Amino acid sequence: MCCKLLIVPETESPAGEWCQHCHVGQGCRIYADRPQRCRDFQCGWLVWGKVPEHWFPAKSRIVVVSDGSRITFTIDPASPARWRDQPWFGEVKAMAVMAFAEQRQVLVRIGRKVIVMLPDRDCDLGVVADDEVVLTGLRPDGSWGAAKVHQDDPRLALGGASVPLV
Ligand code: SF4
Repeated sequence: MCCKLLIVPETESPAGEWCQHCHVGQGCRIYADRPQRCRDFQCGWLVWGKVPEHWFPAKSRIVVVSDGSRITFTIDPASPARWRDQPWFGEVKAMAVMAFAEQRQVLVRIGRKVIVMLPDRDCDLGVVADDEVVLTGLRPDGSWGAAKVHQDDPRLALGGASVPLV
């Protein structure tokens, strides 16, 4: 599923479609020469251990990636509402609450569309361009908010989910 859902620019494959080098159900046709990005990649299913069976990517149609400051659930565009079904939705929401307490983001990505999971609600940012970054933080009224900003936005240097959104 990761060879369909994740964007690997080196393969020049369309986002949300199987990589042109993938022999679906069998594996990578260029395994020995696959890009370094593919060699380094490990999804949450592989690295977290003891993950419930319903999160197996081929079954859930969701690939989870944790990069330290962010947890991203990438959804198969062929089943874009799958993550709103149980038990996935309840577990994603619970993870959002825990992650925000640790100053981390939880994102749901469907193709290039991004939904930010805030502790109290979802925030649909629509399409996030390649030169944009998702910023989360506190609004002046003390509520959580999210926005997409240009990658050069100086607020990104402040880091984490504690950046004021004004
Ligand atoms: S190059 Fe191989 S490992 Fe990398 S995305 Fe394509 S099929 Fe998957």
